[in-house]
Amino acid sequence: MLPTVSTVRDLRLSLLPWREAGETVALIPTMGALHKGHAALVTAARKVAKRTVTSIFLNPTQFAPNEDLSKYPRRIEADWKLLVEAGCDLLYTPSVEEMYPEGFSAAIDPGPLATILEGAHRPGHFNGVATVVVKLLLQAMPDVAFFGEKDYQQLLIIRRVARDLDIPVHIVGIPIVRDEDGLACSSRNIYLSPDERMRALALPRSLAEAAQKIFEGQDIEAVLKDGLKHLAAAGFTVDYLELADAQTLAPVRELKAPARLLAAARIGATRLIDNRAVDRP
Ligand code: AMP
Repeated sequence: MLPTVSTVRDLRLSLLPWREAGETVALIPTMGALHKGHAALVTAARKVAKRTVTSIFLNPTQFAPNEDLSKYPRRIEADWKLLVEAGCDLLYTPSVEEMYPEGFSAAIDPGPLATILEGAHRPGHFNGVATVVVKLLLQAMPDVAFFGEKDYQQLLIIRRVARDLDIPVHIVGIPIVRDEDGLACSSRNIYLSPDERMRALALPRSLAEAAQKIFEGQDIEAVLKDGLKHLAAAGFTVDYLELADAQTLAPVRELKAPARLLAAARIGATRLIDNRAVDRP
């Protein structure tokens, strides 16, 4: 069974006996429409914490008016089943009114890291993400919180914000979970038509190829240009394909330290993101 709470008060009441028993608590923030990437977060969390809490909150403040909030998949029954199978201990499903009561006006600005790459294409997105994650962390006060490297920039931003604001939580990132064919699992993949799903494989493939070539020492600018061509040939409209420092996300044109290839591209009406590590040769 999986107890479910929907208010901050009930969340804290549920956590109290665990805290009193000295049990460690992990938080896994999600927006629902759960898949095996989310399940992997719960599994990883269970290895380090006695108790796991998953939140499902479709956060309106991280979607721009022209984005897919109203169409975002909602499947709470299936989510509940997945979490039971993954062994989650508590589900937290706050309403929009619970998170943003009448008159709510505070916000977290994560700073420069939030204005590049994803932030440049989705202005305000990471302010919404940071604000809701900080709220969730303060509501649950977990010992540890789990995030996926699928949203690599988001992971770095949350680490930065937690550190900057002295939030006493350990932020853990887990590797991207992919389908058998290599496409990164995403709640948004269900928007893809069968044809788009096939063509979408160009995204993980282009990243893997580019990462390999850069690792081998090929000219980074030329490799990125080539990657853009491959993505365009598959029918993608690319927002960005960039090699960035794995910590600062500053653009990299000479591989001296661990770097990350990051991409966002649209196929049809669906926007996908993916990334890959590129370590020093
Ligand atoms: P979302 O529900 O899309 O906001 O995702 C909730 C959490 O799951 C975030 O920390 C994501 O980075 C993570 N996540 C989503 N998809 C994957 C994936 N394919 N592999 C690993 N983590 C993921």
